[in-house]
Amino acid sequence: MPFMHIRTRFAPSPTGFIHLGNLRSALYPWAFARHNQGDFILRIEDTDQERSTQEAVDVIIEGMSWLGLDIDEGPIYQMQRIDRYRELVKQLLDSGFAYPCYMSEDELNRLRDQQMANKEKPRYNGLWRPEPGKNLPPIPEGVEPVVRFKNPLGGSVIWDDAVKGKIEISNDELDDLVISRPDGTPTYNFCVVVDDLDMKITHVIRGDDHVNNTPRQINILKALGGTPPIYAHLPTVLNDSGEKMSKRNGAMSVRDYQKAGYLPEAILNYLARLGWSHGDAEVFTKQQFVDWFDLESLGRSPAQHNPEKLLWLNHQYIQQADPKVLAEATKPFAHQIGIDTESGPDFVQVVGLLKDRANTLIEIAEGAKLFYLPAPNHSIQEIEKNIPADIIPALKDFIEVLAQTEPSKEAYGAAIKQVLAKHGIKMPALAMPVRYALFATTQTPAIDSVLLVLGRDEAIKRLSKVVQ
Ligand code: GLU
Repeated sequence: MPFMHIRTRFAPSPTGFIHLGNLRSALYPWAFARHNQGDFILRIEDTDQERSTQEAVDVIIEGMSWLGLDIDEGPIYQMQRIDRYRELVKQLLDSGFAYPCYMSEDELNRLRDQQMANKEKPRYNGLWRPEPGKNLPPIPEGVEPVVRFKNPLGGSVIWDDAVKGKIEISNDELDDLVISRPDGTPTYNFCVVVDDLDMKITHVIRGDDHVNNTPRQINILKALGGTPPIYAHLPTVLNDSGEKMSKRNGAMSVRDYQKAGYLPEAILNYLARLGWSHGDAEVFTKQQFVDWFDLESLGRSPAQHNPEKLLWLNHQYIQQADPKVLAEATKPFAHQIGIDTESGPDFVQVVGLLKDRANTLIEIAEGAKLFYLPAPNHSIQEIEKNIPADIIPALKDFIEVLAQTEPSKEAYGAAIKQVLAKHGIKMPALAMPVRYALFATTQTPAIDSVLLVLGRDEAIKRLSKVVQ
């Protein structure tokens, strides 16, 4: 194959709610462009002005940037290219590939009703389509026409879809598509074609809800003198109950996942596997994803969203993360629940202690809380209830041993063992009262680690209070 400079695009419509599945469609064209040192373009398909919102555009752009999907060109807004679309509508009219059609809404409706009554597929009947030797009806007065594309008659449109294989659609199935409305605004399929052509897109990688548009787009593209790009139509992403993802049935946006304490690397990894695979690799870096990405390994059946797997992946990434980086990412969550990370134990150490068992950054922040709350202020009654009198001698010894122990996890571990042996007691008998003395709870990470993070002096201070 001659050298081809790969250019792909993500072309979202910023309408309604942008969920995780929507952003998956950005991932593959991005990875394909990066893998091939090509260009990745972001095109905002905002011609549906009633449904497009700036909020949705922001969610898309923020989400992509959070996931690290960098763009080479764009965002290009279709609304800013209206003149260009009009210019090409005119070009098609001039070259005879399009024609004005004066059929009114009413007439169209009547035609449709008639066709349905005859059990035919509703379609435009070509009334205003010019043909050699054909007499067109007289142009009605005061009616602004639509412009229709003159779809080829006979033959078929064939393309070799990189995901679905060969697809062939007979031209008889396609009526003459409206490409421009009476007010001169171009229609959806036309804008897509003009953009793909002008932006020199070589690979159209998009959701398979566009398979039906593809033969029409190919015909228009050819009429405009273009060569069809390679198409790869991705199967849909279903939610965990096997339905189409939507806000109504609980789909979340990338922003929601960010707020819930997910790491962008985990989301990217997760999305990458929703419809693509590389052997049995489940956890891989962004670079590996780019290195391995090819269209051949795209899945052919719908991918199903699996929240547990996403949580598991997030856990993997949290576990592997550098505590410093993780601490920075966790700080906003900690601040949100009132932790002052600047006062109290070193936050990086706290995060390092908690990360192995946390699934989300929120869980780390929640776990960290323990170390930043003021020292418990137990009443005598509470102490009597929670600390058995016969353990007090062991606790006193523990305080003494601690005071001589150098601050390391190993040394703390040895100190605990020494006290257990001396008093002939088992770990929980000592650990539970210690936890209670330090934090007024029985749920904490391992005592040796906790001592290290809280600090020996602070621990001794808190323990001393319960043995008096
Ligand atoms: N704007 C379309 C959508 O959001 C995508 C069009 C395309 O990729 O060709 O579904």
